[in-house]
Amino acid sequence: MEQEKKVGATVESLRATRTYGKFRCHNPTCMERLEPKKGQKTIKCPTCGMEFRVAWVKDGFPRIRGPVWEVNRKVAEDAFEMKMKAKEAKGKEALKENKEGK
Ligand SMILES: [Zn+2]
Repeated sequence: MEQEKKVGATVESLRATRTYGKFRCHNPTCMERLEPKKGQKTIKCPTCGMEFRVAWVKDGFPRIRGPVWEVNRKVAEDAFEMKMKAKEAKGKEALKENKEGK
């Protein structure tokens, strides 16, 4: 009896994770579940902002074809710029402290 219950639970969890019509964001640090609407050619990840091209294998069976490079490069550049600005601000602060210290 106990055994039967366990099997049932496994089947149920498999059904819950089945991903017809969905795929995961290809950004390895994101992995958000994306669900493109029927006929949609591209989909933008709401979490990381990356955009992907969608290919329709069949009605209701989308596949990720690849990233939209133009958009993703911009996302990466913006992130890089933010990092550099933060670094720059830190560097200036350190310089100021040095001068004041003397
Ligand atoms: Zn994402």
